[in-house]
Amino acid sequence: MLKFASRYSRIGKFTPQEVAFMEEIFYQNPDIHGFYGKRTIPSITTKINKKDVVKIPHTGHYLFRGHSKKSYKRVISDVGKSLILTSGVRGVPKQMNLYFNKIKRTGGNISLASRSLAPPAYSYHSVGDFDVGKIGWGYKNFTVSFITTKEFWRLRQLSYISMRYTINNKEGVRFEPWHVKII
Ligand SMILES: [Zn+2]
Repeated sequence: MLKFASRYSRIGKFTPQEVAFMEEIFYQNPDIHGFYGKRTIPSITTKINKKDVVKIPHTGHYLFRGHSKKSYKRVISDVGKSLILTSGVRGVPKQMNLYFNKIKRTGGNISLASRSLAPPAYSYHSVGDFDVGKIGWGYKNFTVSFITTKEFWRLRQLSYISMRYTINNKEGVRFEPWHVKII
């Protein structure tokens, strides 16, 4: 990520302060921001191996080969083709990008951001979980409205998957009916 940034004029080389801030965010315990989930990634330089993931057609997202992909296929065949992958594997740079964008949108409120998106070292998207939604529903798939869809209710009937972030979960994360718990 650091190498790519320095090659693109629109981004530019990260300053030592920016790198230090990324490291601080990555390694600190986010309980100070009200996030109580488990760490899923040990090191800021942990890489996701390209040969361990596979691109899912028509989604723009990747899943881990094996258990995640198998579960996704089973979910689609049980729920129907109106359900689709809306977010799959996320490595450190991707989660960090989403997290910092979330902080920006909350006006710098790290605590509020951490309750709607896991900090970079704490995402289960880095180890197998994925998000699903109803085709054509766009951003509404990431709102509570998702529970009004028949796709959601079919999902709830499946015994081999569950919901990672239920209402009032211990991790401190908002209710996320679209996030499928795999591991
Ligand atoms: Zn998710």
